[in-house]
Amino acid sequence: MAEEQPNMTKHGPMPPQGTEQDNPIPDVKHVIAVSSGKGGVGKSTVAANLSVALGLSGAKVGLMDADIYGPNIPMMMGVTQPPEKEGEKIKPAEGHGVKVISMGYFVPEETPVVWRGPMVHSAIQQFFRDVVWGELDYLLIDLPPGTGDVQLTLSQLVPLTGAVTVTTPQEVALHDVRKGIMMFQKVNVPILGIIENMSYFICGHCGERSEIFSYGGGERAAEKFGVPFLGRIPIDQTIREGGDQGMPIVISQPTSPQAALFKEVAESLVKQIQQSGPSGESHAPSISSILKKFKNPVGADQ
Ligand code: ADP
Repeated sequence: MAEEQPNMTKHGPMPPQGTEQDNPIPDVKHVIAVSSGKGGVGKSTVAANLSVALGLSGAKVGLMDADIYGPNIPMMMGVTQPPEKEGEKIKPAEGHGVKVISMGYFVPEETPVVWRGPMVHSAIQQFFRDVVWGELDYLLIDLPPGTGDVQLTLSQLVPLTGAVTVTTPQEVALHDVRKGIMMFQKVNVPILGIIENMSYFICGHCGERSEIFSYGGGERAAEKFGVPFLGRIPIDQTIREGGDQGMPIVISQPTSPQAALFKEVAESLVKQIQQSGPSGESHAPSISSILKKFKNPVGADQ
């Protein structure tokens, strides 16, 4: 798909966000994209736990699974039954207090689907227009990994409050984080922060901590690009089990240290959203300041 340049006005580039039509979800206060440079870093796991943690804090929350290549949210949220119709519209499923809609409900299971740009566009469009989201404080969108049609489509269809990026700490994962940040900046979507997942491992037998995927890469990347660091989540068997069983750990083991970490990340995210302002205006760094930082790879000055 050809890259689109922001339209220019006499006041400078006009944000392309939500320009295609009027906002199709005016009753949703904040739309937050959950992104990752690579697959398998735990983006969906983080999106599921964050949405539930936000809900537990008293917010009205929705979770849209736009990961067309691996829509795992129904399984992770324990809502595998397809949603019901409400008149001509679709009523989202509900799991652990969160309204859920997923590409997984509409594509045949275990069948690879080839999605071209326009198909992706209209599918996402329907998720906004035809799903009865109602009033929400936060709608989290679990994106496919990388930089592609879904990301671009999203920024055209709705005004995004911002994007969070999930990464593991090692260099190969961080390499792709830079590309993701650049893409969002290009379409004027503020980066609300980086979350480092599978950050460390605490041995269940001896309590020793191991840095399996290196240490602190997510935080270094955040510093380097001048974006907030929202926190780190360990690699942990109970987190994986929660995903497999449709019981995010913030629900299955609410008093565990792991659940506490997800709740802290959710709190940091809310702080960033509050600073960003309701219309997606942000104090996020400018594209030029970010671009300067891309000249020096993360870790080069370690
Ligand atoms: P992505 O959305 O980035 O592709 P997933 O959230 O689907 O990644 O996670 C991939 C696998 O890793 C899943 O089996 C999930 O349960 C597991 N996983 C994710 N985060 C953690 C974690 N912090 N600790 C243990 N397992 C995790």
